[in-house]
Amino acid sequence: MRISDNPVATKLKELEVELRPGVALSAHTSLGIGGTTDELLLRRYDSIPEVMRLLASQGIPHRFLGGGTNVLITDGELPWVTLHLPSTKPGMSIEGNIAHVDASAELGGMVTFCAKHDLGGMEGLIGVPGSVGGALRMNAGAYGTQIGSYVREVELYRALSGELETLRGNDIRFDYRHTSFAPDDVMLRVKLELPSKPFKDIVAGIKVCNEKRRASQPLGQKSAGCIFKNPPGGSAGRMIDELGLKGHRMGDAMVSDRHANFFVNAGAASCADMLKLIADVRERVRLAHGIELENEVIVWQN
Ligand SMILES: Cc1cc2nc3c(=O)[nH]c(=O)nc-3n(C[C@H](O)[C@H](O)[C@H](O)COP(=O)(O)OP(=O)(O)OC[C@H]3O[C@@H](n4cnc5c(N)ncnc54)[C@H](O)[C@@H]3O)c2cc1C
Repeated sequence: MRISDNPVATKLKELEVELRPGVALSAHTSLGIGGTTDELLLRRYDSIPEVMRLLASQGIPHRFLGGGTNVLITDGELPWVTLHLPSTKPGMSIEGNIAHVDASAELGGMVTFCAKHDLGGMEGLIGVPGSVGGALRMNAGAYGTQIGSYVREVELYRALSGELETLRGNDIRFDYRHTSFAPDDVMLRVKLELPSKPFKDIVAGIKVCNEKRRASQPLGQKSAGCIFKNPPGGSAGRMIDELGLKGHRMGDAMVSDRHANFFVNAGAASCADMLKLIADVRERVRLAHGIELENEVIVWQN
């Protein structure tokens, strides 16, 4: 979608929103898939409520993109604009056992920053790409760690009130790859409380997690991590592997031959290729196991 209306563009500029026209989202997603649209860079948090009111009054639909590592976006000209937070460096500070972190910060950078201040607990998250905001939305987790366990407060734009608010960690539900944030909430900053741990012990834990990841995941290929959530008590990857589907493909969308729950873009896969592969694998698992696998990847279609 293009913002061609001059008064809207002028108003956005007044609100210190940077309008980037015609951004190809394939360059901003880890799958390398996604169509083209205008991007609005929200440079001032306090103007976000007004930006949202402006978009609503002009009938301009929007979606929020973080690091783009857990989304599958449709191809072509997209019927919405994307919103994005500019990266802030370092975007984090420490006060005792509390880390204050901007949502636009990189998750891995946050884990190492906290480690340097002898704050641990999040070693398992080291190889999870993307932003802190995306990790909060998804309750990102790995190797027994999930970010939600450490959240004490989240500053956000709340769609319900149309205002900036601060939520206490206890008032947010963090489940397996699911949270109680509303779809249009925008996370801006988080306060995490982390256990004290010597730097060298944290680094040792990080090394173990990195090795596990390197041994099992197609890290050099374009993917969005796990495509499906694990069903209760089961492993989606194991079920897909047991059906002999590693290497199975639709066009250039392929089930990774290293990890059966990672689907990779092995060349110039389209969103349609990836959706066909997801539907095909889901159906095969349903027929074999009677289980309907649920997407972990967020799909943005028209
Ligand atoms: C190689 C690889 C390995 C991975 N391994 C793991 C893993 O071990 N564990 C795991 O949990 N995930 C894993 N993932 C998935 C992904 O990295 C995480 O889900 C990550 O937390 C997504 O963050 P992001 O910033 O990229 O979010 P995006 O992909 O940009 O967005 C995901 C969702 O979050 C929303 N969102 C993003 N930022 C904000 C914000 N500030 N405010 C409101 N909503 C927001 C988006 O609207 C979208 O709905 C992996 C992905 C890859 C490519």
